[in-house]
Amino acid sequence: MNAALPPNATIGIVGGGQLGRMSAMAAARLGYRAHVLTPEEDSPAAQVSASVTIGDYEDVAALRRFAEAVDVITFEFENVSAEGLDLLASLRPVRPSPDALRVSQDRVLEKSFVNANGVPTAPWQAVEDVASLRDAAARLGFPCILKTTRLGYDGKGQALLRGPADVAPAYADLDPKPLILEGFVDFGAEISVVVARGLDGSVSVFDTVENRHREHILDLTLAPAPIPEALAAGAQEIAAKLAGALGLVGLLAVEMFVDATGRVLVNEIAPRPHNSGHWTIDACPASQFELHVRAVAGLPLPAATRHSDAVMKNLVGPEETALWPTVLATPGLIPHLYGKSEARPGRKMGHVTRLFPRGALPGAHGIAAALGPLATSFRMDPE
Ligand code: AMP
Repeated sequence: MNAALPPNATIGIVGGGQLGRMSAMAAARLGYRAHVLTPEEDSPAAQVSASVTIGDYEDVAALRRFAEAVDVITFEFENVSAEGLDLLASLRPVRPSPDALRVSQDRVLEKSFVNANGVPTAPWQAVEDVASLRDAAARLGFPCILKTTRLGYDGKGQALLRGPADVAPAYADLDPKPLILEGFVDFGAEISVVVARGLDGSVSVFDTVENRHREHILDLTLAPAPIPEALAAGAQEIAAKLAGALGLVGLLAVEMFVDATGRVLVNEIAPRPHNSGHWTIDACPASQFELHVRAVAGLPLPAATRHSDAVMKNLVGPEETALWPTVLATPGLIPHLYGKSEARPGRKMGHVTRLFPRGALPGAHGIAAALGPLATSFRMDPE
């Protein structure tokens, strides 16, 4: 199917979270229906979709029912098994392709792919057992970071090794195996780029942004990243190159470090909309979610331009969610809530965006002031 999806066609979204919710809302605006596959009753995505299949991602009957109810399939959650992906792909077009998903599901495949395309990462080594972990640590040096190759997110499935005494306990603790050891990057900034690639191979790249985490969870995104222009452009080139090399149809988010020497190193890739792209809903004529839907539907891709600078702040856990009434009462904060019933600690419940004229993104003090009740303990750079 290479023709554009006609209006009123149904886009199947695997996953029921906020990324699916915002994709479904973008699909509706373009005249499509969304159909969500999720194990969860009353999920954020299903609340705004035309229909839903409730079922596990590994339930063959549910995958089949879901696929048969839609015209094209995409993802907000990429950890479907290889067999599940093959089943979906045998029934409907799957965009991005199962191959692109497989690369991003496994940190060893991911880093091999990135390096094979001439793009640097932190030094790394695959770990099969404690002995190979000791060898890897001797080669990469301490501190280093041990990670699961699969199913890690928001800092889960990883451990910092400070010295030889940490090796055996960390190996025993982390699951599922196998693991990967990475050299520790003394980074100056964490940045990311979201790129869309269409069925015709055309590419639209959003601006490079800076991400600041708290307790491994994204806290703030600054758009554009306050880094030298050449670095920001280099990061965009990397994202476009990797999207092309994957033969991607859809979105690719590329998370990167700027190391102490000013080199850009890729940390992770995700072939789906990304939290660090939420600012595009309010600061760009066409958001990451619109570009996602357009790419998956075979529509032309507009340029990924921004009309404003922006700061995006996540609302995480019960404390920040309790500030919602104050957020609503603060002029200039653009509120987004995801429809989750319970604000557990560490759970992303919503976000706010604050816009600034292009070129007028303030420094740390200005950002704190602009976020009002949400001014956080983020790192204060000298101004
Ligand atoms: P990840 O799950 O790979 O996205 O890692 C979560 C966070 O841990 C990143 O956003 C970084 O803040 C930190 N981190 C991950 N890998 C490294 C590394 N090799 N060196 C330093 N920090 C890292």
